[in-house]
Order: sequence, then C-alpha cells, then structure tokens
Amino acid sequence: MSTGSTLLVTFDGLRRDRVSSELMPNLFRFMDEGSDFLNSRSIFPSETRVAVTSTMTGSPPGAHGVVANQFIHAVRPDDLFRTSEWEDLELAAQAGQLLDCQTMGERMAAAGRTMAVVSTATKGASRMMNSSAHALGQPVFSVHGMPVSSPDVHAAVVAELGEIPPAAAPNGARLTYATRALMEVIYLRHNPDFCVFWMNEPDTSSHKFGVTGAETEAAQRMADENFGHILAWWQAGNGPQNIVVMSDHGQITGHAQLDTLDIIPAEFGRASIGSFSGIYLDDASDARKAEVVDWLVRQDFCGLVFASDAGGEAIDGALPWSAVRNDHARGADVGFTLRATNCDEHWGPGIDGCIFATWITPGGGMHGGLNRGELSTVLAAQGPAYRRAFKSDVPCWLPDIIPTVLTTMGLSTAGSEGRPMVEALVGADARFGSAPIVEQRVLSATRHGHEQYLRQWVIEGKTIVDCGWTVGTGAWAK
Ligand SMILES: [Zn+2]
Repeated sequence: MSTGSTLLVTFDGLRRDRVSSELMPNLFRFMDEGSDFLNSRSIFPSETRVAVTSTMTGSPPGAHGVVANQFIHAVRPDDLFRTSEWEDLELAAQAGQLLDCQTMGERMAAAGRTMAVVSTATKGASRMMNSSAHALGQPVFSVHGMPVSSPDVHAAVVAELGEIPPAAAPNGARLTYATRALMEVIYLRHNPDFCVFWMNEPDTSSHKFGVTGAETEAAQRMADENFGHILAWWQAGNGPQNIVVMSDHGQITGHAQLDTLDIIPAEFGRASIGSFSGIYLDDASDARKAEVVDWLVRQDFCGLVFASDAGGEAIDGALPWSAVRNDHARGADVGFTLRATNCDEHWGPGIDGCIFATWITPGGGMHGGLNRGELSTVLAAQGPAYRRAFKSDVPCWLPDIIPTVLTTMGLSTAGSEGRPMVEALVGADARFGSAPIVEQRVLSATRHGHEQYLRQWVIEGKTIVDCGWTVGTGAWAK
C-alpha cells in the first residue's frame, strides 16, 4: 500500500440532496465521518463523458477538449462525434485529437505507479476514465467486455465470478458483480495505487423513472449496499489508504419533450442538439454569431446562450464560453441549454426541471445544463490523508479531485487547472488545513427580454460555476 493510494468511488448522477440516512446509510455515514465538501459542483456541460474527462485530467473542457457528450469533430466530417462510442474515441485518439491534457493514468505511469478501472458505465465513459490504459498496460474491467476491458483482466474476472449479468434498471446485479470484481480480482491481482470504481446508478434509473422515482430509490439503495461492502472490506485492512467518493452530476426533472430535434435552421450550419446544444456555423464571423444569438434568444426552448467573439469576449445577448471554461478550439461557435426552471434560490428534486427535454419521456431525469440540481454533486473522503468529521464550505468542482489525490501521493499537480483541496488535508505541508479566500459574482446578459444569469465563485483567480438560470419574458411574452 503506497502513500496516498486511493480508491475513487462514483455514484453516477447522484444529486447531493438525494443522499439521506434512510436511502443511503453507508454513504451518509461516510460523508458525516470524513471530509465532506458541501459546495461541490460538476462542470459544464454537466454530461457524463465530459465530467469523467474533467475529473481524470484535473482540468475543465476548455483545457482537455472533450467539449460535450456529442459534438462536431474533424475526424467525423459527415456525422456527429459520439463520445459514447469506442470507435469514435479511437478515431480521435489516432489523430491525436482526443485529449489536450495529461490523464491520471499517464501521470501514474510516469511516476512509476499503477492505476486500475472497474466500471459499469458506457464504453465511452469507461474509456475516458483512463483513455490510454491499454497502451500503458494498466488494467481495466468493464461490464461491456472487450475492447474496453483488458483481455487478461476480463478472463480473470469471468473465471472467478462467472458470466457478466445482463444490464437492467435498476442495475443491481451488475453493480454487485463489479463490486466483487473490484475486491476479489482487481485489488488481489493488481493492488493499484489509484483505482476508479464507477457505478452507473442512480443515473440510469433516474433517467427512466425520475429523480424521486421508487425504482431510482431502489437503485440508490443497491449502490449504497455495494458501497457498504467496500467499506467493510476496507475497514478490515484491505485495499487503499484513502477512499474518495464522488458523483459526476445530478439530475433534474424533464417536463416536456421537444417535438423534434430539428430546431436549428440548416442555413446556420450544423448542430448537435441535446440538453446542451452546439451550433457549428458555416460562417463563423462575429456578425453571424450575433445574428444567430439574436434569433436564439427569441425561441421558447432557449435557456442560457454562450458565444464569444474573435477576442474571446461575449457576443451581445450571450455569455462568453470562458465563463463556463468551455472555450476550446473544438467547441461550438454558439451553444445553448434548453429552457429550465429558475434555480436561483428555490431548488429541489420536486421543483427544478427542464421545461424542454430531449430523449427522455416527461417525468424522467435530465442533465447537461446549469441548474443547481444538475451541478450539485457528492464529494467526500476518508483515510489518513483527510480530516475527520470535517465539513468544508469551500467551493470545489470535478477538476479539483485529481490534484487533491496527487497531493496526498506527494506528486506534482503541474499541468492541471484544478486546485488541491488542501483545506481538508492532514500532514506536514504548510498549505494543509487552511482555506482559501472565496469571492462570489453574478454574470448576466440580456436581449429581447431574455435574461440569463451565471453565478460563479472565484478562488485564487479561477472560477467555479455555482449555477445558471434564465428569467424575463423572451419568447414567453408573445
Ligand atoms: Zn453521469
């Protein structure tokens, strides 16, 4: 067991305010007894593959370049580039256009340490947990088998545990299988210095049955029960020194489905439509961006709008991409969220929701946007590196996790934008135990009665988004 060895456990799509002692007693106790980060946030767009990549690189999309779950990419000139698909990611990787940042797997290899992944997430998300794992010879187990899994790891798990059970919602059988693979195969065979264990619940059930659905609650209980098995195993002296628990985003309720995904005039260019949408303009001049923003803010489906001029400043009626740190050359010229309820002050699983949604039936859960229900995540840690029974109100986000783990390992965080959460760390380092100064500000943009706001925290010159919302009349006045 090396210094700072860490298991990172993820509950996909778990809203912080959905964790209760009744639904998730093991997680609730873990958060209460360890370091608990009260103001932890996802990234934007709050989509899984963007979140995974931002976590594992310790940097936001503007730095690593996975700007959305699906977008327009040069390696797929005639179609959408889908990060859920292994083949698309492989194409981009071969072209050297997948990631612009070093990953945790690469950092571990460079430091002579080991990393492993055990995942029940999609093929694409599992790959982004350690995008060059195969080239580095680092073990991966995915419930999707090859090519996501390492062949020898897949063979060892199946030999030990039998065939992988089929997918379901709730996905309890697969979660239990993966938990056993983690404890009974991966740690026994590889004893990794850093290991990611990813549970795809409650996300899958929440999409289907809603944020507060009975099946979603059942999925939460199943995930928590498996987490309880991991804790008992760890407390008996097995596995890593530290355990960090996170969720990658929350979910809000979808209220009405878009009638069609064909909502952007073809004359603008190509578009990728989702709860977060990007438009890649045929004419990407500042004047054309202004015209498109002017049209967008008058549409009833339009939530927050992002666009930047050639100098990186906002286009009238939009907020600049840099405000959400999604300013990347592979990003869209103009982007927008679907209109959602105002989460400025009042929010909760019963009230904040997406007024327009894609893919899911009304009542199902959604994420991708800037509502606080989407951005508010679980983040907590226990082990010798972390303060006990410590509640931190210092805002943090997914890119801060890996820099914190690297710091507990005594390794450099150079090249990551995230901030080591030193306020929660224990040890001789002079930075440990002291909290940074936090400022808050609200950015806004208004056009044609469409008002949008973005609340940010500023820490050591860098920003974290708390939430964003729209008010005003806009198209609603018609
Ligand atoms: Zn997710």
